[in-house]
Amino acid sequence: MRIVVSIKQVPETTEVKIDQAGGRVDTEGLTRIINPYDTYALEEAIRIKEASGATVAVISAGPEKTNESLREALATGADEAFLLSDQAFEGSDPLAAAHILARGIEKCGPYDLIICGRQAMDGASGQVGPSLAEELGLPMVSFVRKIEELKDGYIRVQRMTDDGYEVLEGPLPMVISVVKEINEPRLASLKGLMKAKRVEIPVWAAGDLGLDASRIGPAGSPTKVTKLAPPPPRSGGEMIPGTADEQVKTLVAKLKAAKIL
Ligand SMILES: Cc1cc2nc3c(=O)[nH]c(=O)nc-3n(C[C@H](O)[C@H](O)[C@H](O)COP(=O)(O)OP(=O)(O)OC[C@H]3O[C@@H](n4cnc5c(N)ncnc54)[C@H](O)[C@@H]3O)c2cc1C
Repeated sequence: MRIVVSIKQVPETTEVKIDQAGGRVDTEGLTRIINPYDTYALEEAIRIKEASGATVAVISAGPEKTNESLREALATGADEAFLLSDQAFEGSDPLAAAHILARGIEKCGPYDLIICGRQAMDGASGQVGPSLAEELGLPMVSFVRKIEELKDGYIRVQRMTDDGYEVLEGPLPMVISVVKEINEPRLASLKGLMKAKRVEIPVWAAGDLGLDASRIGPAGSPTKVTKLAPPPPRSGGEMIPGTADEQVKTLVAKLKAAKIL
């Protein structure tokens, strides 16, 4: 069995600066990490590898420095890594990004299961996993919180819902997106990091993937970001003085006055 994990590199911050002119998040100078949801996708793939001897490949579309995150994934337990990188990918919306990733996944070899995170911490559209499935003509289950059974040509999963979960089954290959309830991700080992430094990561550009210019970048992106706005600043809180008992009494009185209690 061969599993492909789709990993996005994202900025490590909650302090988002917005480039108003470009309608983009300004990521200049920010540390970049593996999208936190994708660490759960990677962990699940590594657990399947440990249990059944599967091979795990990681793939990412992004700038050259995305290599660092792919090496971290190798150091954590992935066997192969592939980077899709080209100036022509700049300005791709989630549909174009999924098109690029689909062609990269096809080129990187056979696959039985493709695992994505439920969403990226920055773009957060949650569209790439489903669009990837559509591009590859595969079934897709989102918000997977547990893989109950996985064998040749068959998978059964629990899909998280607002009220509980559904059990779904289907044929492989399939695309799934996972939620953080699925596992507890491990960290990369020092030994793994040293070993990953020496691994050659293939970098494929638009030409290597046979991509048509009309399907990538702004030309291949039907959605346009017309405005970005930071959340409104929080109003300051109020400190209630006194002992714990006094604080509770004051708080209850305030909640009653505000008709919340
Ligand atoms: C109009 C428009 C223009 C844009 N221009 C740019 C641009 O110029 N440069 C730029 O960097 N971004 C750009 N973006 C953002 C970029 O298209 C999205 O970040 C990307 O498509 C992924 O969407 P998302 O972040 O919503 O991911 P989601 O759909 O929320 O991600 C879900 C999952 O898909 C997988 N995934 C998502 N993105 C990738 C990836 N790149 N590689 C591997 N796996 C992935 C991960 O498993 C992730 O957990 C643009 C977006 C729009 C709408």
